Amino acid sequence: MVNTQTKLREVKLFINGEYVDSSTNSLFEVKNPATQELIAKVHEASFEDIDSACLAARKAFEEGPWRTMPVSERCSKIRRMAEIILERKEELARLEALDVGKPFQVALENEIPRAANNLKFFADFMEQQGGEVYPMDDNFLNYTRYEPVGVAALITPWNLPFMLTTWKLGPCLATGNTAVIKPAETTPLTVSLLGEIAKEAGIPDGVVNVVHGFGAQSAGQYMTTHPEVDLISFTGETTTGKAIMKSGADSLKKVSFELGGKAANIIFEDANLDKAISVSIQAAFMNSGQVCLAGSRILVQRTILDEFIERFKGAASQLVVGDPQDASTNMGPVVSEEHYKKVTSYLDIATYENSQLISGGKRPELASHLSTGYYLEPTIYLQENPNARICQEEIFGPIVTIIPFDTEEEALRIANGTDYGLNAVVWTENLQRAHRISHDVRAGTIWVNCWFVRDLRAPFGGFKKSGVGREGGHHSLEFFTEAKNICIALK
Ligand code: NDP
Repeated sequence: MVNTQTKLREVKLFINGEYVDSSTNSLFEVKNPATQELIAKVHEASFEDIDSACLAARKAFEEGPWRTMPVSERCSKIRRMAEIILERKEELARLEALDVGKPFQVALENEIPRAANNLKFFADFMEQQGGEVYPMDDNFLNYTRYEPVGVAALITPWNLPFMLTTWKLGPCLATGNTAVIKPAETTPLTVSLLGEIAKEAGIPDGVVNVVHGFGAQSAGQYMTTHPEVDLISFTGETTTGKAIMKSGADSLKKVSFELGGKAANIIFEDANLDKAISVSIQAAFMNSGQVCLAGSRILVQRTILDEFIERFKGAASQLVVGDPQDASTNMGPVVSEEHYKKVTSYLDIATYENSQLISGGKRPELASHLSTGYYLEPTIYLQENPNARICQEEIFGPIVTIIPFDTEEEALRIANGTDYGLNAVVWTENLQRAHRISHDVRAGTIWVNCWFVRDLRAPFGGFKKSGVGREGGHHSLEFFTEAKNICIALK
């Protein structure tokens, strides 16, 4: 066992290039979800603190060198941030495991390098951008510039804190905006370091500010109503997206929302089952199922149902549930007591709805130091009714439901039968069917015979209640810029 006994951290706000205390001296506590050990006391931003952060970001935008700096210089500083992240990756991965409860090895090998790459990718991508020219015969020439919008509020959830924040920060900075970042109050540790990393990389004071606090009636809401904030990039729950849209409406803020999901993972009888099962286990239980893209509705063609259930259950039983800091752990706890209560409430709902428990459904037997952690076994239900609550609501934990279907039409109807439309997964060896289903499922990303493969140039976002707008590649650059057309008379 790795020693996770750590010093109690004090996490401050980072405003205008320096760490500062909460002006009201209000601190909230953060616990390790694997043990309930107190790991940090965090300064909660008051309205005055949010005001200072937004004003610092505004000043850095209007007066500082950031917006007008040559693109190559700006991007080299962003790339330096990426390098510092990689230099500190072990520390960041330890913190992410401690704070979120995710396996250290996953954070070390996947999430922290991906976070560095988010910054590097957008710096490189920005440097490659050309412009648009629209000549009007020989009389006039139009050319279009894409200019930064201003001060961006970047608000992120607790499931992939560092990775998701850098996914927003990369294009925000590359295009010349300034930022006020707010991570989720449950998992602020890694994101709290982004300000100092930016400073060390040579990014001017006030460009990257990090504040902490809660959502409604707190830091989150103060940011989304603040007059100095021009745009909001938010990832989180659909209900929070609705609240933020209302808060930002008075000052007509530009918004981009990446929201909840309830993806269909559709397995046809001709699928390569070896591959489908090993990837579907990942899609179901990675990060304890706390992934917006999780394949939590597993639609299985009835002709292979028995075989699939047996093999999927067997694969789930091989997952090592344990201490996030151990290299052998595949699955840790869920993030907090509040979330544990929400996730486990679905065990009663599933029973009430006559779902058949295939495996899991209780706390795993674990070493004594994890006895108070928020653990649940990988849990699998079989449910014939696709409208049951466990098939419709985003549980965001290690609970998945197998839903049988007979025909392709039925699979499509079930896949589309939710309010969400973030992504879907299709397993088939039939090329025509793969295309048909991909075109007809109403979701922003369709993976065929794979899952979670990301090309940062591609659009990312959701249909229906899973999002507003798209991020990724030029979609991100467009969100973080205003197009300006300049028309010149040539004669
Ligand atoms: P929440 O919506 O609860 O919170 C997200 C962030 O918004 C947090 O920083 C939160 O602060 C803040 N917030 C909450 N209320 C408000 C408000 N009224 N005004 C401004 N800010 C507010 O999401 P979770 O943290 O619970 O994350 C899980 C959700 O995120 C799931 O629904 C998941 O699907 C979604 N998600 C979507 C992704 C996508 O790409 N589509 C990717 C990852 C997750 P605080 O926590 O302090 O309350």
